[in-house]
Amino acid sequence: MSETQQGTDAAQASAAQASEDASYSDVVQRFLRYVRTDSQGVPANAPAVPSSACQFNMTRLLADELRGLGATDVTTTEHAYVTAHVPASAGAEHMPTLAFNAHIDTESSVPGNGVKPHVVDYEGGKLVMGVVDGEEIFTDQTVNPELADLVGQKIIVTDGSTLLGGDDKAGVAEIMALVKRFHDDPTIPHPRLAISFVPDEEIGHGAALLDLDEQGAAFGYTLDGGPLGVMNYETFNAAEADVHFHGFSVHPGTAKGKMRNAIDIACEFNGLMPQQSKPQYTDGYDGYIHLHQQSGNVEKADAMYIIRDHDRAKFEAKKHLIESAAAYLNEKYGADIVSCHVFDQYYNMAEVINKHPHLVETARRAYADNGVTMWTEPMRGGTDGAQLCFRGLPMANLSCGYHNAHGIKEFVPINELETMVDVLQSICATYATGEPQA
Ligand SMILES: [Zn+2]
Repeated sequence: MSETQQGTDAAQASAAQASEDASYSDVVQRFLRYVRTDSQGVPANAPAVPSSACQFNMTRLLADELRGLGATDVTTTEHAYVTAHVPASAGAEHMPTLAFNAHIDTESSVPGNGVKPHVVDYEGGKLVMGVVDGEEIFTDQTVNPELADLVGQKIIVTDGSTLLGGDDKAGVAEIMALVKRFHDDPTIPHPRLAISFVPDEEIGHGAALLDLDEQGAAFGYTLDGGPLGVMNYETFNAAEADVHFHGFSVHPGTAKGKMRNAIDIACEFNGLMPQQSKPQYTDGYDGYIHLHQQSGNVEKADAMYIIRDHDRAKFEAKKHLIESAAAYLNEKYGADIVSCHVFDQYYNMAEVINKHPHLVETARRAYADNGVTMWTEPMRGGTDGAQLCFRGLPMANLSCGYHNAHGIKEFVPINELETMVDVLQSICATYATGEPQA
């Protein structure tokens, strides 16, 4: 095929796609556009922000669209952040600025570029993504019981060869559709909004470089939760422990009474950790101590643990356990053979959100006003919101409608995208007319 022919075909395909998409609502059109825009992170490049140049695709696209929608202070940074403000509706100018945040990168453990989304009319039974290498890729109600409530709905999936990227492009699309709504009808009540889209959340960077002074927000919401109705404002407290074991190597044939094997001591140390506190035996509000890396020889061994607990006191107790195990072995062997460095990584955002209960109650009411019963779920991990809470910007996490995130069986029901835009509008209405500012 000639290059000209290829070009014509590509143009026809994208025109066909655009006209096909045009039958959908604004938030759905946006979602389809954003998931087709590559922005997968690359963990191996983690020290760089963004970890992949393709994330700038989303940065540029969103900045252009925000300008087109009349947002002010639209800023992009060399680290692929996009920030902007949306002026308040008339009469709400004095209300506190409300923040909305989502992340532009997608998970990297499965293929995530070249996404080909399509819409399935789900009639029950299997929800089929596509056929890959002769194998049908699908999910059903045994794996996703919530599908029972989605019969008769339109659901967005991929062709089965990539993830969809609903985490977190559903959140991005919902925020952008809200901005468009206020642009089209500025009389819809809303306070001033501070919008931020950030890179590399999936590899632990997220909102770290967000300029909070520039945002000027009092509180807000991240849109990075799963199925419609879930809200998260509890995360783990998190720490890491780097433990080093110092041995003494001599020829094994003449080792009696002399050799100190660092590997043995590392194993002994791990044996002092409570077995029931390993991740594979915990869920819900159980914390854990997790050995995630170990290496060494007779002379020297290293072990890395992560410590997680929702409860601050139990978290501190787990850190203390690690330190006391090191002290015990040093005592037992009569020398400083174990050294450990324990450092905190992040804290449970509930400590902050509990001082701003209106964030939870406003969300609960907004969901209810749109026919959705909210439920809260403790996150067994962290989120951008946790980081922002402890930097002084209280942010709770809302659902954005993705299911089976981080896999090729991910799906996003159209109804959940559309309902979330209504939920955001209801939240804005509350904060435009006066809500406790504490
Ligand atoms: Zn996410």
